[in-house]
Amino acid sequence: MEENDELSRHVGVTCNGCKKRDFMGRRYHCLACEDGFNLCDNCFASDVTTDDHKFDHAMKCIFTPASLALFYTREELESGKYPILIRCPYCKMHNFNLAEFEEHVTHNHPNADPNLLLTYRLHL
Ligand SMILES: [Zn+2]
Ligand SMILES: [Zn+2]
Ligand SMILES: [Zn+2]
Repeated sequence: MEENDELSRHVGVTCNGCKKRDFMGRRYHCLACEDGFNLCDNCFASDVTTDDHKFDHAMKCIFTPASLALFYTREELESGKYPILIRCPYCKMHNFNLAEFEEHVTHNHPNADPNLLLTYRLHL
């Protein structure tokens, strides 16, 4: 594996859906599953669930080093404050920041699992 290549992969991570290792693209890390649960872009898009992992768990999108460098400035990366985008698990709308997502869920999904917002608030 070349060095460049490593920057565009999630080295050492296995997708819990399709079991692919060192996958490319976005990685979705579950903030609610304590044992560590990760999905690749495809499996996240098809909402892979298990006995432990439910579709409305809080998921954090993690970029590869290569795409981070494309999307964010060095300052943002060094401060660790680059924006994390959230997808609504109920209606599948993308690209909320936390404040927008809280408002969206409160207004549109009054019966949402309260742990979803709690988990995001704790970790983001
Ligand atoms: Zn997968
Ligand atoms: Zn989970
Ligand atoms: Zn929604």
